[in-house]
Amino acid sequence: MNVPLLDLKAQYAGIRDEIREVVDDVFESQYFILGPHVEDLEARIAAYCTTQYAVGVSSGSDALLVALMTAGIGPGDTVITTPYSFFATAGSIVRTGATPVFVDIDPETYNISPGHVKQRIESMSAEQQKTLKALIPVHLYGQCADMDPLKEIAERYRLLIVEDAAQAIGSEYGGRRAGCMGDFGCFSFFPSKNLGAFGDGGIVTTDSDSWWERLKIMRVHGSHPKYYHRFIGGNFRLDAVQAAVVAVKLKYLDNWTAARQENAAAYRRMFADAGLASIQLPVEKQNRHVYNQFVIRVPGQRDQLRRHLQENGIGTEVYYPVPLHLQECFAHLQHREGDFPVAEDASRQTLALPIYPELTNEQQIYVVEKIKQYYD
Ligand SMILES: *Cc1c(COP(=O)(O)O)cnc(C)c1O
Repeated sequence: MNVPLLDLKAQYAGIRDEIREVVDDVFESQYFILGPHVEDLEARIAAYCTTQYAVGVSSGSDALLVALMTAGIGPGDTVITTPYSFFATAGSIVRTGATPVFVDIDPETYNISPGHVKQRIESMSAEQQKTLKALIPVHLYGQCADMDPLKEIAERYRLLIVEDAAQAIGSEYGGRRAGCMGDFGCFSFFPSKNLGAFGDGGIVTTDSDSWWERLKIMRVHGSHPKYYHRFIGGNFRLDAVQAAVVAVKLKYLDNWTAARQENAAAYRRMFADAGLASIQLPVEKQNRHVYNQFVIRVPGQRDQLRRHLQENGIGTEVYYPVPLHLQECFAHLQHREGDFPVAEDASRQTLALPIYPELTNEQQIYVVEKIKQYYD
């Protein structure tokens, strides 16, 4: 049996006619950059995320970058974030000229640990504390970071919060949607995300009138009015084709999320029945986990297990094999192995299994069977 990590063709088959219609509409209009389709998507995403505004941008990475640029973060500033995320989380900080300050994660949710954030800030000198400008929590794998204590810390030290919600559209924390809890919420429409475009795309949410105005200016090279530049922005614009595709898919998102949650529940039953107790399944601490990924933690031989599954036609992925503080390009930050042991353990032990909405029960049974076979 073949079980890919993700099967976008299965999703497309169900929405082909609708997608072709809207894409054809864009083609006929020959209006490709920003414009009515982008504005329509912005209104829909803002409503979905329960924010005042949303600004369509070129990718999730650019969503983070343009949010930080809009907030005026740059050289001499520091930004607290997690070492266990996709590269762009820290890359965006460094691209503004600021410096990331990594803080270790919670071993159950893999999200940044508020207790460690507090400790880290308290261990800083008054001088160092003054350079602190923002906090980027990542809602990893589709589950929100522990936002209440993080917000408390941010208020106390006057830090902006930029939520990296690239994996978490629709996820909730105490009934609040990802992207509505910080100053900015950054989302990705990379095709493999829960809400994916047919290319690159992203969006930034905000409740602030002034951030909203500034985001729209930053997205077009800081130009306002046209050809007059008070700020240096970039080309962070979203295409009409991508916006039109995402607007169609957004209508299905809650159904797809429900299917992911059902698949997660099915895995839990199957793992329990198989007696695979040494494998740690995702720990649901927040009330709406959207399962962008279903990530298990295996006690040992993760890479061998992965190979075994691959040989049996099962796709898996390691998110992420090298924590950010140990990436070669951040060597100047002078981190060493052992600095963030929880993140380092996670990078050695976690494995993402197929969880996409169209995954069948038979496929899931087969996945769990092959994992059991490996450990028997
Ligand atoms: C995917 C992702 C991004 C970047 O999004 P792109 O659209 O690929 O640029 C940023 N942060 C996290 C946590 C992601 O998973």
